[in-house]
Amino acid sequence: MPEVKIGADGKLQLPEDILAGLGLGAGDTVLIEMDGGKAVLSRAVAACPGVAAGQLRDAISRKNLEASMRFIRGVGPKMAELLAKKGIQVVEDALYHLPSRYEDRRRLRLIEELRPGWVEVFHAEVQVADAVVAKGGRRFFEAVVGDDSGSIVLKWFHCNPRYMKGVWQPGKKGIFTGEVVLYGSRREIHHPEVEWLKEGEDIASVVAGDPVNFGRTVPVYPLTEGLHQKALRKVLKEVVDSCSRSVATHIPDDIMVRRSLMPLTDALNEVHFPGNDADITVLNSHATKAHRTLAFDELFFFQLGLALKRQGTSLEDGIPFQISHKYTRPLLKMLPYSLTAAQKRVLSEIKQDMSCPAPMYRLVQGDVGSGKTIVALLAALLAVENDCQAAIMAPTELLAEQHFLNIHKLCEQLGIAVRLLSLAVKGKERTATLEAIASGTVQIVVGTHAVIQEKVLFRRLGLGIIDEQHRFGVLQRGGLKKKGACPHILVMTATPIPRSLAMTVYGDLSLSVIDELPPGRTPVATRVCSESQRSQVYRLIKDEVRSGRQAYLICPLVEESEKSELRAATQMAEHLAAEIFPELRIGLLHGRLKPEEKETVMASFKARELDVLVATTVIEVGIDVPNATVMVVEHADRFGLSQLHQLRGRVGRGSGHSRCILLAGGSLSDEARQRLKVMEETTDGFRIAEADLELRGPGDFLGTRQAGLPDFRVAHILRDARILEEARHEAFALVAKDPGLSAIENSLLRDELLWRWGGRLELAVVA
Ligand code: ADP
Ligand code: MG
Repeated sequence: MPEVKIGADGKLQLPEDILAGLGLGAGDTVLIEMDGGKAVLSRAVAACPGVAAGQLRDAISRKNLEASMRFIRGVGPKMAELLAKKGIQVVEDALYHLPSRYEDRRRLRLIEELRPGWVEVFHAEVQVADAVVAKGGRRFFEAVVGDDSGSIVLKWFHCNPRYMKGVWQPGKKGIFTGEVVLYGSRREIHHPEVEWLKEGEDIASVVAGDPVNFGRTVPVYPLTEGLHQKALRKVLKEVVDSCSRSVATHIPDDIMVRRSLMPLTDALNEVHFPGNDADITVLNSHATKAHRTLAFDELFFFQLGLALKRQGTSLEDGIPFQISHKYTRPLLKMLPYSLTAAQKRVLSEIKQDMSCPAPMYRLVQGDVGSGKTIVALLAALLAVENDCQAAIMAPTELLAEQHFLNIHKLCEQLGIAVRLLSLAVKGKERTATLEAIASGTVQIVVGTHAVIQEKVLFRRLGLGIIDEQHRFGVLQRGGLKKKGACPHILVMTATPIPRSLAMTVYGDLSLSVIDELPPGRTPVATRVCSESQRSQVYRLIKDEVRSGRQAYLICPLVEESEKSELRAATQMAEHLAAEIFPELRIGLLHGRLKPEEKETVMASFKARELDVLVATTVIEVGIDVPNATVMVVEHADRFGLSQLHQLRGRVGRGSGHSRCILLAGGSLSDEARQRLKVMEETTDGFRIAEADLELRGPGDFLGTRQAGLPDFRVAHILRDARILEEARHEAFALVAKDPGLSAIENSLLRDELLWRWGGRLELAVVA
């Protein structure tokens, strides 16, 4: 193997024989590409100093980052195992295992100096320690520790007193950390952390001998059982010192300057082991320049991927539609209402897209009841006017059927052929439907995911609409697209995703928001009730039914298990019919019913042949029965807020005053009560979604990975929303200037994008 050197000027010095073999001479520039783990010298490119050397340097750095943690000094097999439990296997994992908070240990304080409201670190000796029973019978463990300046009380509320007494022996010395609270006028610390000194050990020498853990602002890392803060700090110090050099970014210089970012190596050093002048408050809110740099870097590459993806789709040939108003105008005349300003605006955005040669990729977000269906239908009519077919896909049989009935009723009068295609359509009817779709006699197909099955062939699909997008996987979205030659795609969702999150998940789609409800709706009055108020709740249902209204009763979500959900709903329906409302007509709707059974139940509820409908969450999306004015949700605390909001959207659809009762279990935590209170306070889906996102984090919020949300290592979508926007702006501007990132000065950036996201990018965006 010939040796390759990098010269003082940063250029690669290739041996003569290799150059000769490539037909190159001194001064020529060569591109090195990585093929698996091997560097391959490929084409000669126009003079661009630095690219070849840069590629080799990157290849070496990446190898270093992929090195196992076992090669790190001080990491034995046992430590390696503990680290692996925390997801830290290679050097890069460790570098990006960032502190969750920081402690100011630049100087250990005297007890007399401890400030209420601060997390303080001090050194002291145990004076007394014992279990205590307070006046009200509450038990806890208390210790008093002191130094020359005074003493302070430490308390533990949940612990084993015998064990504690064994550990907290008078005379023992240690270093204590915890938040100082005021109890009356007395300062206390509850559940402090302690690092004991060995007997005879002297504090000054401990502090001096451990510059990682003392005399500085120290990082506090997320841990796992068996992994201790002090030890992890030492490992990370070693990794950061020896390996952070290998981390680099190829974000163009002008962006680095404009966004005032710092080199990644420096940023990692600062984030793990901040300098002595760092402000603890800024550190703890993850807002230092170093934190911002790391978040920007991560979000920039993600947005760059989305921008490229979008660029790719806009290069496809779509079908530019003419706007003739042939069907849309008569339809608007037929409606008993006029469109809201928001509906009109979104519709014109859709028209604008569909009259372009590039296919549309648009997400319409509108809160429950904002009137998305009619917007979808109008878009479908545009396709029909252009001699194209449209397909509308809904996530459940129930919803598909309901859409079909509504749309069919309207289209019949316009002379447009609409067909339903779902699992419920079988046998001869199915064959006939498939034939009609293939021959083009059907102009609008409404269905479930049956629409994207292999056997379904369209004559000329011009528009694919997906309702309630969040219920579908990414794959299905792609599936519909493949049913035509680049049809326009319209995606609709009622999950009011905060804008920042929408940009992340659906970053390759354009976004329209229907941010206005049709006039005349009274907001649904919502109340959280406890078990003790159950009889009042039943009385409310009775009263409403007596005045001609109907009610929903939603049964709990039992840990994802469809079986127990079913049992709960069935039992509830039986109990109500037999004991509570013997005089009322009770229906039952759950996921296990056959499609035609569901339809029968829904139809009789709609026709007012049932007074109360007991249902599981199958009712969640899109069902429209304006006469239903009460909804009771059992065990509301087990639902996500956004889901409750969706459920609640089933009432308040008519002009009558509607109510939603959230029944919560007896022993609700403060936090759960707080959470449900949001539902009482607002009917604004966006505010609810924000609250939900804050409380549960993005992964949970959208349910699963399938929503396409990547796991970010640094960035936090809410906290870093500003940075996300900046990163998006820069990434999209860059791709606009250099579509495909093919300019030579962007080649390292492009390599890096592929390396970072590789296969994951495909998953993260629309297929
Ligand atoms: P969602 O956005 O939740 O899918 P829908 O499309 O089901 O909402 O509409 C909810 C109800 O509002 C339907 O009964 C529909 O007929 C009605 N609607 C839609 N647009 C308007 C409007 N501009 N004015 C009055 N009612 C409307
Ligand atoms: Mg809908």
